[in-house]
Amino acid sequence: MSKPTTELEGGCACGAIRYALTASPLIVHACHCLDCQRLTGSAFVINVWIESRFVTVDSPAPKSFRLAGGTGRHHDVFFCGSCGTTLWSRYQIAPGDALFVRAGTLDTPAAIRPDVHIFTRSKLPWLALPQGVRAFQEGYKIEEVWSAESKERLRLNASAQT
Ligand SMILES: [Zn+2]
Ligand SMILES: [Zn+2]
Repeated sequence: MSKPTTELEGGCACGAIRYALTASPLIVHACHCLDCQRLTGSAFVINVWIESRFVTVDSPAPKSFRLAGGTGRHHDVFFCGSCGTTLWSRYQIAPGDALFVRAGTLDTPAAIRPDVHIFTRSKLPWLALPQGVRAFQEGYKIEEVWSAESKERLRLNASAQT
């Protein structure tokens, strides 16, 4: 798992929204699905999966819009109302109260590396993944992939919701 040694900060392109991640990610996804390609206008998205309470926003709250996910469960996308930079998503299908923070909006995106590449069935054909990286054609089972520590954090987060 990615373990930033210091708190990571980030923000949108115009600077109106600034945020900090106050814990390490549960896991970091590089998602190559067609929805993420379209939303980012790029080859894939880098999502830091982290509990909402560890994302502190030191500015006006981002605006959001809602998309119907491919699974039938909705997906809210949060963005800066001034410049439109997409900052994070909340997926109804993801367990617990968690956000998927776009790692490209960090001040130091190199501080984060994907733990897994997912939906590689739609990975752009010219993109070669690093040797030995964990990659899945579609999704994966949390039980089989996450660290014990992250699974415990998820369990606490999910039970706090009910
Ligand atoms: Zn902005
Ligand atoms: Zn995706």
